[in-house]
Amino acid sequence: MTGDGWTHDVIVIGSGFAGLSAASMLAERGRKVVVLEARNRLGGRATSFRDGMTGELVDNGQHVLFGCYRETRRFLTRIGAADRLRLQPQLDVTSIDESGRRTRLVCPPLYPPLNLLAGLLEWDALDFRDRCACFKLAGPLRLAKREMRGGAGVRAASTGETVTGWLVRHGQTRRLRELLWEPLALAALNQSPDVAAAPTFVRALALMSGTSPSDSAVALPARPLEEFYASPARSFIEAHGGEVRTGVTARVRTDGEQLHEVEADADRLRGPVVISAVPWFALTELFPSGPPLPLCSVCDAADATDSSPIATVNLWLDRPVIDRPFVGLPGRTMQWVFDKRLVFGNATSHLSLVASGAGAITGLSNRAIIELATDELCTALPAAGDAVVTRATVVREPRATFSLAPGQPARPGVETGLSGFLLAGDWIDTGLPGTIEGAVVSGHLAAEAALRLMVPHVGR
Ligand SMILES: Cc1cc2nc3c(=O)[nH]c(=O)nc-3n(C[C@H](O)[C@H](O)[C@H](O)COP(=O)(O)OP(=O)(O)OC[C@H]3O[C@@H](n4cnc5c(N)ncnc54)[C@H](O)[C@@H]3O)c2cc1C
Repeated sequence: MTGDGWTHDVIVIGSGFAGLSAASMLAERGRKVVVLEARNRLGGRATSFRDGMTGELVDNGQHVLFGCYRETRRFLTRIGAADRLRLQPQLDVTSIDESGRRTRLVCPPLYPPLNLLAGLLEWDALDFRDRCACFKLAGPLRLAKREMRGGAGVRAASTGETVTGWLVRHGQTRRLRELLWEPLALAALNQSPDVAAAPTFVRALALMSGTSPSDSAVALPARPLEEFYASPARSFIEAHGGEVRTGVTARVRTDGEQLHEVEADADRLRGPVVISAVPWFALTELFPSGPPLPLCSVCDAADATDSSPIATVNLWLDRPVIDRPFVGLPGRTMQWVFDKRLVFGNATSHLSLVASGAGAITGLSNRAIIELATDELCTALPAAGDAVVTRATVVREPRATFSLAPGQPARPGVETGLSGFLLAGDWIDTGLPGTIEGAVVSGHLAAEAALRLMVPHVGR
């Protein structure tokens, strides 16, 4: 775009974690930003809505963060919402296995990976053989950390290998895989470890066994997602002179191989930088006359990227049935149950049961999914059998995350061949899986790239 008639410094399309983190960083640095969001609410795939019957704010799915989500915590601190994240001091997870046995994995406050190894050695779910097997991952994890620091020629896992293949190659026993690695891989990758490629999982593991005992600790939003980050981000951007518009489907017009303008309903917006923070499945649609030449291969790859679903069942019961904020249910379709009252406080009263990599059930009726979730809950927690279900809802997110299966198209970088047009979103090549942290890392990278692009325009 030429410098004539600019309406904004940066136009950000999409108000998920990626768009809001990019916009808030730019607003903090004094840039005039506008965020355009097609839906009537903020947050994209991490959002909440009001339940019609109870009036409670309900998330589109439980979002779990980890202590190693450093860029996310930086974003939350910026927008004044860091106190809305409840971080365990160190990893502490209670699970109920398929036989109904309840165990607790607690890692002591030692430097990684000693904290994880000590926690696993003490975990009474494992026998002697399983415990010995844990040590076999110490070497590969060290290698993964070296690879992340840019160690030349170091590969902790190969791209054609699945997570299960990698775990078996490193001697992880069946019980360790079923009780620990499979639930972790499903939660982190939203895909069965038999299908997902190993490198992204290994990188996530290396981050979790990072530098502090809290890197592997679970962190939960203490408020519904709307209040956790979306509204605070909006207030921050507006307080710094920016705008956030909802219910506006943006379209990008190009002039040959140049950015021309962004259509936002009747408005025509112009600025030196546009950041697309839309998901892989919405990129091509940004260009009503087809993608410009420099973006054709990126759009083709985005269109060819598969998605992986998540299903959530929300159950309102007439009494509490669990005594901690979350419990793992390994080996079941619903892999985790969260008690939102223990997470959010008394303004909420439901349980959320989560099925990641939920391709096998998203085609079932709501009734069938609710029955499945209720059966699994009652089998794992017999106390739930005495409770009365007063309300039950299902939330399906068919395109919750992009597929990490071997053979998927390469993920693009932040910078593109179209001058002034940057990409953000969890699907950008950050090396991380489709997570909040991946989205925020990409948002911050895009904001930094935008600042670099604008340097020549300062003081215009
Ligand atoms: C049910 C569920 C559970 C999850 N659980 C976890 C978890 O436990 N931990 C974790 O880290 N991650 C989790 N994730 C993944 C996480 O939610 C995503 O990785 C992250 O929210 C992606 O953010 P984003 O900004 O990249 O994209 P999005 O959130 O998809 O935001 C993109 C936005 O762009 C908007 N948009 C699209 N086209 C246009 C247009 N033309 N004009 C204007 N706006 C447009 C969309 O409406 C959307 O709001 C989960 C996801 C789901 C769905």
